[in-house]
Amino acid sequence: MRITVDLDLCESHGSCVFAAPEIFSFDDDDFLLYEATPDEGLREVAEKAAASCPVRAITVAAAP
Ligand code: SF4
Repeated sequence: MRITVDLDLCESHGSCVFAAPEIFSFDDDDFLLYEATPDEGLREVAEKAAASCPVRAITVAAAP
């Protein structure tokens, strides 16, 4: 699975961090960090995180 976040859209709302802390986090400056190729077993939480993003910045795709 490959996760892409459009950081130009991201407004650091944090919904994704709440939905999938295994994948998303903030650094000390509230800048979003994320695992771009998480384990396939995290797909359900990844898709919940993508759905929770108010600006639809997160894309979840199959691994290349
Ligand atoms: S939910 Fe969306 S806007 Fe909020 S931190 Fe995550 S990617 Fe950024």
